[in-house]
Parts: sequence; C-alpha cells; structure tokens
Amino acid sequence: MTAKVQTTLRGPEAFSLARRAVEEMEAAGVWPTPLNFELWLHYLGEPNGPLGKEMQRLIASGTAFTEGTAEMLAAEYLPRGRLSEEIRDAGDVLNRELSTVSEAIAKAQQSQAAYGQTLAGASTQLEATSEPTALLGVVSTLTKATTEVQAENATMEKRLETSTREVARLREHLEQVRRDAMTDALTNLANRKAFDEELLRACDEAEKKRHPMTLAVLDIDHFKRFNDTWGHQTGDQVLRYVASVIGRVSKSPRVAARFGGEEFAVIFPGESAAVVEAALNAIRTEIGARSLRRRSTNDELGAVTISGGLAQRRPGESGSELLDRADAALYASKRNGRNQVTNGERLEEAA
Ligand code: C2E
Repeated sequence: MTAKVQTTLRGPEAFSLARRAVEEMEAAGVWPTPLNFELWLHYLGEPNGPLGKEMQRLIASGTAFTEGTAEMLAAEYLPRGRLSEEIRDAGDVLNRELSTVSEAIAKAQQSQAAYGQTLAGASTQLEATSEPTALLGVVSTLTKATTEVQAENATMEKRLETSTREVARLREHLEQVRRDAMTDALTNLANRKAFDEELLRACDEAEKKRHPMTLAVLDIDHFKRFNDTWGHQTGDQVLRYVASVIGRVSKSPRVAARFGGEEFAVIFPGESAAVVEAALNAIRTEIGARSLRRRSTNDELGAVTISGGLAQRRPGESGSELLDRADAALYASKRNGRNQVTNGERLEEAA
C-alpha cells in the first residue's frame, strides 16, 4: 500500500474513504473481495496515481472487472508493497539466525581460550612433577576439560545446522515470492512487469551479440463480444486456453507474457521475422482449430481466433520502439479482417 493511502487510512478521512470504496464497488457490480477492496482504496485514495489512472481507464472503457483483471492490476501495481513486507520478514529471520550464530561462535571462542589455558597449566604442572597422584590429577583435569569442549562443539554444530536449514528455507520462500510477483495468476504466463524487464534484457543481449531478435504481439479477436455473451468466467477460461497454447510453443529462451487484458506478447531471442511468422501462424491455427465448450452449461462456444503482429529488432532500436512496430503490425491484422498474422517487416517494405 502506498504511503499516501496508508496515511489516509489512519486519518480523519479513513472511514469515509472505506465507505466510498464499498459504494463504488457496488455501483460497478464488483464483489467486495479483499483484493478488490485494496484496489478501490488505492484508486479513490490516489486517483491520479498510476493505479488510479489505469482503473479509471478500465472503468471508462467498460472493461469487465474480473478476478483476472484484479489480479493483473495487483501484480502490476501492488506487488512492491507485498514484496517489501515479505523481504522485511525475511530480514528479521535472517537477523535472528545471524545473532544465534554469532553468539555460538563467541561462546565457542571463550571455551577454546579456557581450554588453551587448561592445557598450558597442565603442561607446567607436568614439567614440575613426577608424582603419580599429581600426574593422575592433571590427567583427570585434562579429560574433564576435553569433554566440556567436545560438548560445546557439538552444540555449536547443531545450532549452525539449524541456521543453515532455516536460511535455505528462507531463500526458497523468497524465490517463490519473486516468481509470484512476476507471474500472471490467471494464465501462469509472465506478467507485464516481468515482460518489461525481459524485453529490456533481450534487446541488450541482441545488441551486444549482434543477434536477431523478434517481438510478437497477439490479441484475441472480438474478446469483449465473447465476454458480454458468455460471461466473465468463461472469458477467463478462454484467456487460459489461448495462454496455454501460446505457452506450449514459447519454451525458453522464448518468453511469453500476458501483456494486457486479452493481449499477449512473445519475445523470440535469436530468431528472425520469417521464423517467428511461421511460429505465430502455427499458434493461430492451433487456437482456431478447437471448438470450446462452456463448462457450466456445456454450450458450444465455437472457436476463438487471434490476430498477431511481429517486428524484428533493428540495430540500436529500443524495446518500446520495437513494441510500437509490432503493435502497428497487429493493428494491420485487425484492419484486414482479423484471424491473421502480419509481418511488420513486409508491411514496412510495402509502405
Ligand atoms: P483447465 O480447465 O484447468 O484444464 C487444464 C488442462 O486439463 C487442459 O489444458 C486439458 O489438457 C485438460 N482438460 C481439462 N478438462 C478437459 C476436458 O474436458 N477434456 C479434455 N480432453 N481435456 C481436459 P488445455 O486444453 O491447454 O486448456 C487450458 C485451459 O483452457 C483450461 O484449464 C481451461 O481453463 C481452458 N479451456 C480449454 N478448453 C476449454 C473449453 O472447451 N471450455 C472452457 N470453458 N475452457 C477451456
């Protein structure tokens, strides 16, 4: 949660903001789930913030506010707060483990020093005496000191083992949190934030290695009409279906992402426009070949089709310039009747 909204929620405006959030959710026909409530608090508490602006845009365009939409918005605009909480918790655990380890080390150092003194004392005593009883006394002192040091060492080893296990568990948990923050919850593809980072990285790598790299954007045809006819739950399933086909064809090093509501993007490192055009047409044909059914009623939904556009990166071109060209190619596909893929390189040659 942003600092501004946090402050408002502890000030004189708190309850009126919370009431307005509930009223506005009701007016928009949205369930007051904790996630939606958090989104609406942000939207109303900071209407000109990035999330506020995006919510206004979605509401104005009549976009259905499904669970998938809420999760996408949360992943894009709320994760840092969540992530930083998780990181703070992990930091606390790490601090605890580190102080346990440093206490154990300090204690071990003390007992080693005491043991050293005992040994030095025994050596002096041994030099000074040949009395069997005195010798027996020295040996018994040494045995006792050695047993104590061994016990200390065993305790320290156990503590170190526990700490190592705890730190490994923490590392795994943080890795999962990082993965969740980069994944679109509905489709399991990369989310917009992950895509932006990946595009930057892929452009850098293509520039350094002087390799080709192609970017594709795909959009489900008439998705809004589909949603309005069959409902948002079925709409979400169609998104999952399209994503599953795109995901299957986009194994590493390709990166597929849900890019917006019904829009997807795939980065093809090291691949030329001609190869990508063929891959996109294979995706398009596979998606359109299956007739879907509505799970709740078994109604025949028919096939969904997608349109696509692609552009191959030019030397020195930034990710956003490349994205603009791929988008222009997508819009050419839409203009020309949908259910087709446009290769931006050919489009520009023709122009
Ligand atoms: P899901 O419902 O979680 O299904 C996951 C996978 O289980 C599907 O991957 C498919 O391999 C298998 N599966 C589930 N139900 C059936 C079924 O009734 N018959 C067959 N032959 N296989 C089934 P897939 O096909 O890649 O679909 C991914 C997601 O796309 C599904 O997730 C679902 O959300 C959506 N989807 C796919 N086809 C349809 C459909 O005909 N109607 C609806 N409503 N959704 C569909």
